[in-house]
Order: sequence, then C-alpha cells, then structure tokens
Amino acid sequence: MLSIERLYNFNLKDFCTIKIGGIGKVVYFPKNVDEISYLIKEYGFEKIFPLGIGSNVIFSDGFIDRVFIHTKNLKSYEIKKEKNDFYLMLEAGVSFKTINNIVKKYNLEGFENLSGIPATVGGAVAMNAGAYGSEIFDIIQEVWWVNKNGEIIHSKKEEIKYSYRYSQFQEEGFVYKVKIKLKESDKNISQIIKQHLLDRNKKQPLDMPTAGSTYKNPPNTFAGKLIEQVGLKGYRIGDIGFSSKHANFLVNYSNAKFEDLIKLLTLAEKRVKENFGIELEREVKIVE
Ligand SMILES: Cc1cc2nc3c(=O)[nH]c(=O)nc-3n(C[C@H](O)[C@H](O)[C@H](O)COP(=O)(O)OP(=O)(O)OC[C@H]3O[C@@H](n4cnc5c(N)ncnc54)[C@H](O)[C@@H]3O)c2cc1C
Repeated sequence: MLSIERLYNFNLKDFCTIKIGGIGKVVYFPKNVDEISYLIKEYGFEKIFPLGIGSNVIFSDGFIDRVFIHTKNLKSYEIKKEKNDFYLMLEAGVSFKTINNIVKKYNLEGFENLSGIPATVGGAVAMNAGAYGSEIFDIIQEVWWVNKNGEIIHSKKEEIKYSYRYSQFQEEGFVYKVKIKLKESDKNISQIIKQHLLDRNKKQPLDMPTAGSTYKNPPNTFAGKLIEQVGLKGYRIGDIGFSSKHANFLVNYSNAKFEDLIKLLTLAEKRVKENFGIELEREVKIVE
C-alpha cells in the first residue's frame, strides 16, 4: 500500500458544511493522480466517495463503511495567457476562493457569476455548479479524470455528458484536473463579484451550517417556492429545518440528527407531490 496520507474512523461532521454525520471508515488525501488511480484500483470505485469541501453532501449518523478521497492536497494551478484569453489549469482541490483571487487580479470575465459558490473545482465539475444564469461547464474546456478502472482519461468538453446540476462524473469517475477559459474584461469584475456576494448574503442563510440547495429546481418553477407554498419555510424537526430566509436551504440549528433530516425531506416531498403533482429531485448527495 502506498503511503498516502489518511485518517481512520474520522468525524464526518468535520468534512461537510452542514455539520451532520457519524464516523467514516477512512479518508485518504492523495497528492497526485497516480495515488487516486491506485486507490480506485485497490478498493474498487463502488466503495469510493470523492469529497471536496462537502458543501453539497449530507452524511448519515453512525458508521459509514466507505473510502473517502479528499482533495485538500490537490491544490496546484497554472495560468497561461494567449492574447486576451487566459487558460487556467486547476487541480480538483483548488477552491473557488483561489479562482476569485486570480480573476480579480487579472480582471477576467467568465467566472464572476459562480464566484460566491463554496466549492472546490472537483465538486463543482461533478455537480455542474451554477448561479445567476451561468454554470461551470460554460467555461470548461477539458477534464482529466480517473475512471472506474483506475485509468487516467483526458476528455474534451464535447465528449462529456452534463446537464443542469449533473455531470457524468457523479457516477463514472474522479475529477483530477480541469482547464477553463476566461478572458480579459472591460467590466469591473471585482465589483460584480462584490454585488453577487451581497445578494447571496441577503437571500441565503450564510451564518448557519447548511448544504446549499436541497432540491433541484423543477422545470419552470423554484423548489424553494414550492416548499414555502406547502407551509414548510422555517419549519423545523428537532434541530434541522428549512431556512426562514431561503426555503430550499436546510439549516442545522445546533445538533441536528440525520433521522430528523430524512423525516423533514420526506414530509416536503410528500406535500409538494400532493399539492402540485411535482416530484422534487434531491440536489444534495446523501451518503449512508
Ligand atoms: C451556502 C451555500 C451556497 C451554495 N450555493 C450554490 C450555488 O449557488 N450553486 C450551486 O450549484 N451550488 C451551490 N451550493 C452547493 C455546493 O457549493 C456546490 O454543489 C459545490 O459545487 C460543491 O462543491 P464541493 O467541493 O464542496 O463538493 P462536495 O460537496 O464535497 O461534493 C459534491 C459532489 O461532488 C462529488 N465530488 C467532489 N469532488 C469530486 C471529484 N474530485 N471528482 C468527482 N466527484 C467529486 C462528491 O462525491 C459529491 O457527489 C451551495 C452550498 C452552500 C453551502
């Protein structure tokens, strides 16, 4: 076994933004793509759970018998300039905060609408994260990833399956590195980023542990609006509730239990189905 940094029997609460969860079997922190490939071959992809900041995941209480691969040691990046275009090569663990600093420094256009999402590159590509009418696949050009057999694959954007809050990497592999294209802008990019952050602060419960949007927006409507219309905005079971600021965000009031969270989701899904005939689809990734 390669000597890859790891932690056994670790607290899952420390690896997600909503701060719920029991004990995970093991988490590895590979520092290069060969180590990722090795872990996938050693354990089998079905056993693996890739992990960024954990801002869209919910872990159950108790023991989770999975092998987590965390990207905190994959934070290298390169910047290449060609005329007015900038190409950023980013490893999976690079955070959106780091990208914000780069785009502000060079006044680059293309990332500003995504700037306030708490994400790593790997998690954002897997989820096709998006905001304010943009999504990460708008700027992606190429992805280097490790497939279920542990092979390192290089794919151009045209070869990748993605849609609203979905990419094939959710089932098919581990994102290692991406290339994105941005360009020098005439607009004041720092100012746009600041406005988006102010707007998020107004609309989202950023002062509480949360996992972002619980449900995907159904076609032509908003999940938050439906949850509000069935009377669940601000509704709480034990220490978990739908935020009174944004009904599609779950918030952990202190010591939330996974069991209560599932009761709350079941209630919301039932009420929305009964009232509107709509099946809410979970955006958060639940790991049990
Ligand atoms: C306050 C708040 C606001 C948010 N706002 C938005 C928003 O505006 N728009 C939006 O789209 N999302 C939003 N989110 C959700 C979340 O930030 C995004 O989904 C983000 O992309 C998740 O990134 P992460 O690195 O934390 O991934 P994680 O939460 O760690 O993982 C998410 C999924 O991606 C997979 N994954 C992670 N890394 C890799 C990898 N290297 N290879 C393959 N799969 C991987 C995981 O297995 C999991 O299935 C918000 C969340 C919070 C808490």
